[in-house]
Amino acid sequence: MNELLKSYLANETARQNEGLELIASENFASQEVRALCGSVLTNKYAEGFPGKRYYGGCQNIDDVEQLAINLLCDLFGAKYANVQPHSGSSANMITYYALLNPGDTILSLSLDEGGHLTHGSPVNFSAKYYQILHYHLGSDAHIDYDRLEELALEKHPQMILAGFSSYPFEIDFARISAIAKKIDAIFMVDMAHVAGLIAGGVHSSPIPYADVVTSTTHKTLRGPRGGIILTNNEEIIKKINKATFPGLQGGPLENIIGAKAQCFYEASLPAFKAYAEAVVQNTKVTAATFAQLGDIVSGTENHLFLLNTKESFNLTGLQVEKMLEEINVTVNKNMLPGDQERPSVTSGIRIGLAALTTRGLNQDGAKEVAMLIHQYLKGEITKEEAQKRVVLIAKDLKNIEEL
Ligand code: PLP
Repeated sequence: MNELLKSYLANETARQNEGLELIASENFASQEVRALCGSVLTNKYAEGFPGKRYYGGCQNIDDVEQLAINLLCDLFGAKYANVQPHSGSSANMITYYALLNPGDTILSLSLDEGGHLTHGSPVNFSAKYYQILHYHLGSDAHIDYDRLEELALEKHPQMILAGFSSYPFEIDFARISAIAKKIDAIFMVDMAHVAGLIAGGVHSSPIPYADVVTSTTHKTLRGPRGGIILTNNEEIIKKINKATFPGLQGGPLENIIGAKAQCFYEASLPAFKAYAEAVVQNTKVTAATFAQLGDIVSGTENHLFLLNTKESFNLTGLQVEKMLEEINVTVNKNMLPGDQERPSVTSGIRIGLAALTTRGLNQDGAKEVAMLIHQYLKGEITKEEAQKRVVLIAKDLKNIEEL
């Protein structure tokens, strides 16, 4: 291997092992998943789908991709799946391209209230090709379903989209589905963040309610970096497949598809259910500890919560992200509902426990993480003391290469 690359890789491995990863969209994939990402499957061109390829020599690739599809359908109880999207953004782009016409209207949650760039942010393709209407959170920071219904009935969007990147509460899929049915709109769910919790049985599933469901595979689901699309509707999967290839993508990343198959297999095991339960418990304990210490947190029903750093510590999200980076704790600044700061500054941070729970963090550890961050941000302990405590916590956790 190139010497520079070798050293960069060693640096990153050390950073991941020695630090505390609290970014809610990250996780640590198993050795098997990582081995498949780096396997010979990367060598093969396989445009098309199992049984219908545009290249010879695809018999083994067909087996791999069909296994991934079967395991995925079984995991979520869906009839049809496409495992080829290169990422979560690609899965969303493919879905819009398959099911909407340019200029159609999508009713979604905005980025600053917990949505995602691909849900209609002005700087994203989604807002350039589609009309975007946003529903909002109520004063209790939960989705305002009544207002969502009023907007849907008034504006008749072609699609209603649910599924978020920084929403800490469970989503009422049945309620949104009923609203979409009233206006004959497509109900799409982007379950990227909570896919692992759904697979582990600790979050309700959108599959019985949504026309189409997209996801990433690398967040709570703990697989390789990639995207997937699920549906129970045969006409929809035909359109999705066509939009994937030849519509928007070329050759599928079969090495990643192999790793996705392994991820779906791992997520079907009893140990994954226990993992998902531990993620939710650890997240609750961490959020509750901040709250007991007098900090302002959003509350949580899943794997993440928001910490209001402005009100709690008189620091912006950006300042806190940087301060925590100095002690090897990784978080991301995040807009809070109604945030007056710019997205590059923000008034808060997002904290997620999926990654540390994979490394074996228990509830005592979760409490210690919150106390350490609180004391450091309040100036009650020095940077050096905080760094030492991070090292101690990280030492007790599993090594990421052995997962
Ligand atoms: N959808 C949601 C809800 C997300 O949170 C994200 C990523 O953060 C994506 C889609 C995009 O996934 P990717 O980064 O793989 O394109």
